[in-house]
Amino acid sequence: MKEYRCSCGRGPGDDGVEIHSSYSLWGYIKLGLVGITAMPREITFYCSSCRQSFARTSDKKTIAEFSR
Ligand SMILES: [Zn+2]
Repeated sequence: MKEYRCSCGRGPGDDGVEIHSSYSLWGYIKLGLVGITAMPREITFYCSSCRQSFARTSDKKTIAEFSR
């Protein structure tokens, strides 16, 4: 994964960095009806300190690493 940094210097996994997951329609169906934990289609890293979404990825390996 590339080194992503927001403008105040935080990166994925740091304090204050939120991970927002987006699911495909099928992911929502699985979450809502079946209760299976679906893998997000895409995740966005959002810094709550400088209020900036500074990185977005749909890389499956990265998603598996950060979406727990
Ligand atoms: Zn920041």
